[in-house]
Order: sequence, then C-alpha cells, then structure tokens
Amino acid sequence: MPYDFDLFVIGAGSGGVRAARFAAGFGARVAVAESRYLGGTCVNVGCVPKKLLVYGAHFADDFEQAAGFGWNPGEPAFDWPTLIANKNREIQRLNGIYRNLLVNSGVTLLEGHARILGPQRVEVNGRQYSAERILIATGGWPHIPDIPGKELAIGSNEAFFLPQLPRRVLVVGGGYIAVEFASIFHGLGAQTSLLYRRELFLRGFDGAVRRHLKEELEKKGLDLQFNSDIERIERQADGSLLATLCDGRRLETDCVFYATGRRPMLDDLGLENTGVELDDSGFIRVDEQYQTAEPSILALGDVIGRVQLTPVALAEGMAVARRLYRPEEYRPVDYRNIPTAVFSLPNIATVGLTEEQARAEGYEVRVFESRFRAMKLTLTDCQERTLMKLVVDAATDRVLGCHMVGPEAGEIVQGLAVAIKAGATKRVFDETLGIHPTAAEEFVTLRTPLGA
Ligand code: FAD
Ligand code: NDP
Repeated sequence: MPYDFDLFVIGAGSGGVRAARFAAGFGARVAVAESRYLGGTCVNVGCVPKKLLVYGAHFADDFEQAAGFGWNPGEPAFDWPTLIANKNREIQRLNGIYRNLLVNSGVTLLEGHARILGPQRVEVNGRQYSAERILIATGGWPHIPDIPGKELAIGSNEAFFLPQLPRRVLVVGGGYIAVEFASIFHGLGAQTSLLYRRELFLRGFDGAVRRHLKEELEKKGLDLQFNSDIERIERQADGSLLATLCDGRRLETDCVFYATGRRPMLDDLGLENTGVELDDSGFIRVDEQYQTAEPSILALGDVIGRVQLTPVALAEGMAVARRLYRPEEYRPVDYRNIPTAVFSLPNIATVGLTEEQARAEGYEVRVFESRFRAMKLTLTDCQERTLMKLVVDAATDRVLGCHMVGPEAGEIVQGLAVAIKAGATKRVFDETLGIHPTAAEEFVTLRTPLGA
C-alpha cells in the first residue's frame, strides 16, 4: 500500500472525531492525532463543562424561589472546589468514552502533537506517517488583545480550573462566552461586571433579544458596562488587580476574564510545508467541500472560522467522511437556519433570521412578540420575564425566525428549528395545538402582530 493511512486527522475534537469515526466505518484506514485532550474544546473546555457550571449557577435562583413553594432550604453555601472536582471527574469519564469510540471504530489513535511535513506526510512523537489525505481539525484558541498586563488576565481555558471562585470578576467581551461566564460568576456569588466595547452586547442577535437580556441581567444585579474597554491591567500590592479603562476610570478586581473571540489553532502545525492558504482573518481557506489550496489537505470546524459551533463541526466532519468514502450518501451541510443558544441566565435561543436581517434582506415582515412572567415564578418574588418572538414573511406567511429569552430556551427552540427548516408558515404554528400549561405553548398562540 502506498500510504500508511488513507486519512490522517489532526485533532480529536468535535469535527475530527466525527470525520475519523465515519471514515473508518466506511472502510478507510484512519489515524487521529491529538495533542491535548480527547473530545477537544467542547468536551474539555467548552460546551460541556460550561453547561455544568451554568447548572451550578442556576441553583442560586432555585434556592431563592423554593421558599415560595414552602421549602426552607436554610442558608445555602456554595463550594467552588467541589463543583470543579465533580466537573473534572465527569470530563474524565467523557474522555474515556471518546477513546473507546475511536478505538472501537478501528481508528488508530496517536497521542501527541502533529506537525505536517509535506502534503502527505505528518510527524507525531518523532515518527513519520504518510497519508493519502490529511484533515486539519485543530480548532481554536482564546484570543486576548495585546494590552499592557494581558498576562494578568485569564481566558475560558483557565476559568474552568480556577482554584477558588474569585470574589470580584471583570468579564471583557460581548459574545457568547462573555455573557455565559458573566452569568456563571454572578450566579455562583462573585461580584461581576461585564465590559463591552460597543453600545449593546450580542451583536448579530435580534435587537429585542439583546435589549431583553440586558434588562433581565441588570434586574439580577449583574453590572453591565457598555461602551467600555480596558486599556491596561496592573497587579496591586495586596495581590488584587487594577484595570484602567480607556475612558480613564479604574476598576479594582480579583480576576479579569477575557472572552474576545477565538483564533485558529495553527501553532507549529507545519503549514509552511504545504500550499494551504489562510483567509483575511487568518483561518484556513477552504472551498465548499472543505478542500484547502493543497489538493491532499482538507480542513473543517473552528479552524476554518465559518460557524464556531459543535453541531456545525460534527456536520462538516460527517460531510467530509461521506464525500470521500461514501459519495452516494453525501449531502452538503446546510448553513441556513442554524439553531443556537446562549446559556446565559436566563437562556437565549434563536433560529432563522432576526427582524433586522429579515428587513435588510428586503422582506416585509410581521412581528409577533410576547413577554410574560413564567407560571413557576407566580409563587415567588422573582420578576424575571420571558420573551418570545416570531418574525414572519408577510408575503408568504413563512416563519423566518424564532427568538426566545427565558428558561429552557434551547430546549424549546430546538423543536421549532425543525418547523422552520420544514418551511412552516405562521398558519401552521397557529393550527398547532399547545401543550398546556407550558411556556412553549406561547409560540403557537401568538395572535396579534406588533403595531396591528
Ligand atoms: P476542537 O473541538 O477545538 O478540537 C480541536 C482539537 O485539535 C483539540 O483537541 C486540540 O487539542 C487538537 N489539536 C490542535 N492542534 C493540534 C496538533 N497540531 N496536533 C494534534 N492535535 C491538535 N459550541 C456549541 O455548539 N455549544 C456550546 O454551548 C458551546 N460552548 C462553548 C463554550 C466555550 C467556553 C468555548 C470555548 C466554545 C464553545 N462552543 C460551543 C464551541 C465549540 O466548542 C467548538 O465550535 C467546537 O469544539 C469546534 O470543534 P473542532 O473539532 O473544530 O475543534
Ligand atoms: P464571539 O466572537 O462570540 O464574541 C467576541 C466578543 O469580543 C464580541 O463581543 C467582540 O466585540 C468582542 N471583542 C473582540 N475583539 C475585541 C477587542 N480587541 N477588545 C474588546 N472586545 C473585543 O467570541 P467568544 O469568545 O464569545 O466565543 C467564540 C465562539 O465560540 C462564539 O462565536 C461561538 O461560535 C462559540 N461559542 C458558542 C457557545 C454556544 O453555542 N452557547 C458558547 C460559547 C462559545 P464586537 O461585537 O465589537 O465584535
């Protein structure tokens, strides 16, 4: 055989593992190299541990609300090291599952850093391997802007392993990670401020959703500082940190957490030994079939910087495996209507077009909105309000977008994403019976468009 492997996958994260397992299942001889942790970002320092911390943070609300239902849970006390140790144990269990998944599907697992030596050659732990094709699935890494004192700040990787919960935290950024971690730190009891450089966080989400979340987070006592950015960070004599903002204000804190986007992980990957090209933002440039400029090399997932979500990396991995080794089953990834959630407290979930996008694309839209206090809260002092919103194409009645802020938004919108993908009209929503009493039934009982 001319090559050691048919496919050499670099990175055992969401996309790499999916591509490797399916390619091996289709009969290809596959190797995967992983330098750090099986399962990649999502399992080790992303979706999974993040969601566990969000669950942990939500107990603060649960304890408070329990009193309205007659419970007296006493004075709750929170222990961060216990949460982190339990989280670590669960992640270790998942690492083992990923190992078994790979090995049982016949993939050769190489634990070590992979460096590309040429279009069809890779080195791991001092050994060279040849492969007909190489798949780069090396993911991303937190990007912290170059400001004086940046070494005093942490990113999401470190946040998951802090020995203690900081008493005070400054979160910088206005994307998914910033909003989620601000909710985690605040919920667990840290005095938390979120600093975002523009007017309103979560750029790209529906305007009503962004404003609603702002109001809800502020109601909970989270300090939101928009139009704010840090110029430098210094360590003070007592060990605390001093952040000087661009407008001259100075904020004292115990932890500065940056969530300002992620760069592609290309460190010591050996791309200079190939014809692989990067795009203007530094991500690997691929065509619609994940082919790089080097004919034998493909790339997918966060490292191509298209949509940085686990289900997208999984779908891309599956598409690559099918196209190469089971072409009769190949279906391109559909990047329209990708449902997504932000696990802030309360959660956001969304699928389809925002009202702003729909109008910019020339649709005449009818907008339906409902804001209400969830039934569970009626026996409590909690004044949190849920938002549900539908954006409908006036010409065809098709629902273009569903947006929600409230408990279990992700669980609810996942189901609606099927309807949107199937092209459901507002009339189909109206003719669907509710499940009573739920919050979700509100999505099928929105009768009057805004402004009517
Ligand atoms: P990764 O999962 O990053 O895997 C890349 C792997 O390659 C890593 O294991 C790395 O160690 C390895 N590697 C890199 N270089 C080399 C090398 N040279 N040799 C060998 N191995 C190498 N997405 C969601 O859908 N939902 C969420 O709730 C969510 N939450 C997130 C929370 C956080 C804090 C973060 C950071 C991300 C979150 N994401 C979430 C995004 C999601 O984790 C990523 O989109 C997904 O993991 C991308 O998969 P990937 O396969 O492209 O890369
Ligand atoms: P995002 O790209 O979502 O957000 C980055 C934020 O940082 C933006 O608000 C951006 O502001 C701001 N920013 C960028 N550069 C600077 C700078 N130099 N100074 C100050 N602010 C800056 O990145 P995240 O790091 O939050 O997350 C990375 C990706 O991971 C997400 O986009 C998402 O795809 C994925 N993810 C998904 C999750 C989920 O599905 N629940 C959870 C976590 C991550 P501006 O708006 O001005 O550009």
